[in-house]
Amino acid sequence: MANIKEEKLRSLKHSNIAASIAGLITLGVIIFVAFASMLSVFAVYIMDAKVRDEYNRVSQVAELYLISEADPGASRGPADDYIITDEAGKIIKEHGTNTCDLASGGKMDVLEIAGAVDAVEAQLSEDATEISDIKDIYDLNDGIAQRIRENGITVYPDTRYPIIKTGKGGRVSPDFPGLGSALRALADQADDESVDVTGYIRLPYWIEVPLSSGMHMVCKASFDMNYRELTILGTLLVIVVIISIALLVFMIVFLCRNLKNRKRMQEVFFMDEITGGHNWMWFLSNAEEELKKKSNSDNRYAVLDIVFVNYRNFCVCHSVAEGEEMLRLVGDKIEEHLQKGELYAHHSAAHFAALLIYTDTASLEERIRKMTADMEKVNSDHKFNFWVGVDRIGILSDENSGKVNLKDVDIEHEYNNAGAARASITGDDSAIAFFDAKMVEEQKWIDTINENQEKALANEEFLVYYQPKYDPRTNTLKGAEALIRWKSPAHDGLIPPGRFIPIFEKNGFITEIDHYMLGHVARDQKEWLDKGYSCVPVSVNVSRAHFIEDDLAEQIRDIVDREGTPHDLIEIELTESAFFDDKNALITTIKKLKGYGFTVSMDDFGSGYSSLNSLKEIPLDVLKLDADFFRNDSGDGRDRIIVSEAINLARKLSMRTVAEGVEEKDQVDFLAKEGCDMIQGYYFAKPMPKEEYAGKMGTSDM
Ligand code: C2E
Ligand code: CA
Ligand code: CA
Repeated sequence: MANIKEEKLRSLKHSNIAASIAGLITLGVIIFVAFASMLSVFAVYIMDAKVRDEYNRVSQVAELYLISEADPGASRGPADDYIITDEAGKIIKEHGTNTCDLASGGKMDVLEIAGAVDAVEAQLSEDATEISDIKDIYDLNDGIAQRIRENGITVYPDTRYPIIKTGKGGRVSPDFPGLGSALRALADQADDESVDVTGYIRLPYWIEVPLSSGMHMVCKASFDMNYRELTILGTLLVIVVIISIALLVFMIVFLCRNLKNRKRMQEVFFMDEITGGHNWMWFLSNAEEELKKKSNSDNRYAVLDIVFVNYRNFCVCHSVAEGEEMLRLVGDKIEEHLQKGELYAHHSAAHFAALLIYTDTASLEERIRKMTADMEKVNSDHKFNFWVGVDRIGILSDENSGKVNLKDVDIEHEYNNAGAARASITGDDSAIAFFDAKMVEEQKWIDTINENQEKALANEEFLVYYQPKYDPRTNTLKGAEALIRWKSPAHDGLIPPGRFIPIFEKNGFITEIDHYMLGHVARDQKEWLDKGYSCVPVSVNVSRAHFIEDDLAEQIRDIVDREGTPHDLIEIELTESAFFDDKNALITTIKKLKGYGFTVSMDDFGSGYSSLNSLKEIPLDVLKLDADFFRNDSGDGRDRIIVSEAINLARKLSMRTVAEGVEEKDQVDFLAKEGCDMIQGYYFAKPMPKEEYAGKMGTSDM
């Protein structure tokens, strides 16, 4: 498949979905991270504020302590729990209940729930329902420790457990190991509207502040979080989660819609707007995929190019809409004949493509024949015809080196081969043609000719051969036909015109060739005339492709005049098929040529259909009876009756006759008896080189 199409198909099928999913995941992660960061920044802000507040409060406690120490009478000193340490860190004074874990040295990284960690872990396995609650508290504690550290404060853990209180004073003892149940009780109360749950979580710890002369006060502090704050944080968390989920849902919906649209797009992209079935792009993509899937099977596959021969005519006579309706019916018919694993699509205009599985060529041909027979009958008022080109995948490598790898098949290439086979079909009836090695050779040959024709012409590789025409009654030379031969340095021997003239007729080079031949014949005739030979008219073939040119007669006259050759020594041969073209233009040109003194003959008379009709209207000098009349002389006399009548007819229309392809003596005798003017055939002479032909002409002094 061509690269651009392959790219297009790949992008349509895969990449965008992958990009959408990747985009969705990235966006989801970004949104979640953004909200989570906002929430943690907010939490850090609250914690920092609380820690600083506690530090300030403990600093004020220290000041109050110092005032009371300085003047014990004036101040009673702070009521808080605290201890005073000396320079060595030894306790020199205790106030209230000392639950400070001084042994930790104020260096803890994590403000532990006193002694709780191990016990929490032990509890976790026993009381799994509280895992998240206990862990939350532990994480909160961890977070506070982190904040305190970052604020440069020295703290000591408290040897007690965290306290959780309800607002109505009903203290729920979280005494460990019952912390899990306490939290559950609290949660249960929260559901009961009669209980005011404006309690708080208190995490106790001890803050150290410097006094004077190396002494420190270590005062009990706590991180308190009431339920309102917890609710705000919780609500924020819920909002974040909801927004994240909403965005995720939105994106999933978006992705689904996107996928649905893509599917629709694929349907539209792969839909044939005429038949409503699949189009060529679909076929390309799916046929190759199907072959890849079946690469390990023993299946043999064939690609078909099916052409609805009379489609254009039908559209002209009816309407394009009706024509398209016929295409739809034809498509349906093809589909009816498909088996599992086989595909078809409308390619373009009158063309369909199909991929069939087959076992042997004979049964494949039989299947296609049945299919076309059904297709021919899609409309009861019309009989349609179909040409089918068949490319059996791997047939070329099959013949030489075994099976083809179905994974590497290029469907476009195979379809093109099928098309080449189909193009070899001639006539109007339904027909099937198989692509084979011969066709490849033929294509290569056409390529070689296309590449070399100009060079060959410039190098004068084309030779003029002359085939004499004799009077059968007197056996005297009456004329000759100039026939081209190609002496190519790349080939041994001469290449006959049948190998290249049809190609030149198709590629347009035939006009150059005809000019070349006419020029050479005119030059030869002039040369022979000047040398004193008894020259006879030589006919030159002019292709029908030439006759679309208005000034053809002038061109011919000018070429001949350039050599100074008398016009009566040149005859122009037109093939019968030229008479199917624009008749008026043809008649004008023929009249002009005759006016200039050239002889004009109709070549291959009897090989086509409208010969007699043409004779009626076109003023010709010579009728050349087609070689076919003499080639398969069945001996039953039917050919001879026609030949005899044709000669009679020509005589009555004042035309001379030349019989072509005559090889047998009895044919010569018969033609002589019937009054045929000339015979051009192997019986007398084959086409020969210029010098040899010159030897056949007498000279005036002979
Ligand atoms: P054509 O114009 O009908 O030429 C007659 C062909 O019949 C020649 O084939 C000739 O060699 C062959 N022929 C003549 N007598 C006999 C015979 O007794 N038996 C057999 N078997 N064949 C005989 P050739 O030379 O191969 O040319 C084939 C065709 O190529 C010509 O058919 C003509 O259509 C075309 N052609 C040849 N030269 C030219 C040319 O210079 N210009 C154009 N436009 N076409 C040319
Ligand atoms: Ca001819
Ligand atoms: Ca002929």
